[in-house]
Amino acid sequence: MDLRPALLVIDMLKEFVYGRLRSPSAVTIVPSIKVLIEKAHEKNVPVIYLADKHYPFDNELKIWGPHAMINDKESEVIEDLKPSDRDLVLYKRSYSGFRDTGLALILRDLGVDTVILTGIHTHICVLHTAIDAYYERFKLIVAEDAVAAFSKEDHEYALRYMQQVLGAELKTTRQLVELLDKL
Ligand code: ZN
Repeated sequence: MDLRPALLVIDMLKEFVYGRLRSPSAVTIVPSIKVLIEKAHEKNVPVIYLADKHYPFDNELKIWGPHAMINDKESEVIEDLKPSDRDLVLYKRSYSGFRDTGLALILRDLGVDTVILTGIHTHICVLHTAIDAYYERFKLIVAEDAVAAFSKEDHEYALRYMQQVLGAELKTTRQLVELLDKL
């Protein structure tokens, strides 16, 4: 099949799942992401974690307050989704996983043409990463039951936006497992 995907796992950090900026829905998507990571490993699909790691002077802190700070353990990926040695972890200081992380070039070097988005938050870092993926000419698939936001409204608005404005395909984890199985 002509699909060369990478799985992106966005901000599944202790801070956002259990810490200061936690959202109740973040815990609920862990099992789906886990399934997708396992399937990606099985099918040799690259798994790339994008993780906030902030300096005290970062712009975003004016809006959200300190979170996922550079030396805090809250900036680590949660234990349940701990990256393996074969995965990549890229650190970011803003919403988009493409900004100053080298992600676009890494994806091209890996021969990737499609990114599968998972993680949090649907309307913030997932959305901004999707926008940059669109500008970088990658095809977009959003794992709709493996992304989450603070509220249902934010979540649904962002899903619709990515679908309508960025041409993203929305798929369930089950549909994605079937799709990856065909690779
Ligand atoms: Zn941040």
